[in-house]
This record gives sequence, structure tokens and C-alpha cells, in this order.
Amino acid sequence: MADAGYGSEENYELLESQQIEGYVKYNYFHKEQKRAQKNNPFLQQNLFYNKDGNFYVCPMGQRMEFVGKGTRESTNGYTSQVSYYSAARCEGCPMRGQCHKAKGNRRIEVNHRLNELKARARKRLTSETGKYHRSKQAYRSRSSVRPDEKQ
Ligand code: SF4
Repeated sequence: MADAGYGSEENYELLESQQIEGYVKYNYFHKEQKRAQKNNPFLQQNLFYNKDGNFYVCPMGQRMEFVGKGTRESTNGYTSQVSYYSAARCEGCPMRGQCHKAKGNRRIEVNHRLNELKARARKRLTSETGKYHRSKQAYRSRSSVRPDEKQ
């Protein structure tokens, strides 16, 4: 069990390679459980992904085609593979103001491997066992506050 600060691709991969069933949150784990986030069609995580065709579909129904791959390096040197997708024509779209602020067409960067690992982490964290561990951890965090820090 660990806090969101540990929910990186590198750490998830390490746990998988050691066959350790971790209950590790990632950034935005709590935020994404909120209804406003789940119902926002413009957020990248809510765009429909067609895995077979390897394209996304934007809120206007336009395909966002795969346009290339790249890498990202974390501060401690871990390299991640990312993919880029782009809408073909955002000009004149009535939803543009809500959708993105880029000058041209909307472009997204996706780390598919991290998304896979996060989906597994989410499944564990929202299971009954995960809820139990999270409640224990919240209790431990509260108990570790020094008396003079309590308000
Ligand atoms: S602004 Fe572009 S990506 Fe966004 S909904 Fe419109 S067409 Fe789709």
C-alpha cells in the first residue's frame, strides 16, 4: 500500500515483475472518481479509444489518428513510450472552446502501458480489499499527526 506519489510506471512495473499485488494510488486517483470528471467528455481519459484501429474519437465524433511515437524520461532516468494522436480539423468546431486551447488541431499524448497499469491499480484499489487497505492507511496517516499539529 502506498500513496499517489509512488504511482509511477516504473514502480508499477517493478511490482509486476516481483509479482507483488500492490495497492498504490496514482495522481488524480481520487479526482477521477468524482462525477464531474467521469462525465466530462473532453478529458483525454474519457475519449473513446479504438484499440484495433489505434485511433481515438473526439467529442465531435472525429477520429484522432495515430501520428507517431516518442519517449519520455522521468527525473530518475526511467524511459516511457508514448504515442501521439491528432484530430484532423478543429477549425470551426463549436466545441473548441471547451475542448482545447491549442492553436491548431487537438493533439494528445498517450502512455498506453501506464494506462494499462493504472487500470489494474484502479481495479485493485476499488475492490473490497483495496477499500479496506485504503481505510487502514487513512487511519494510520491521521494517527501519525503529532498532537501539536492537530487543530
Ligand atoms: S475541437 Fe477538435 S478535437 Fe475537440 S471536439 Fe472539436 S473537432 Fe473534436
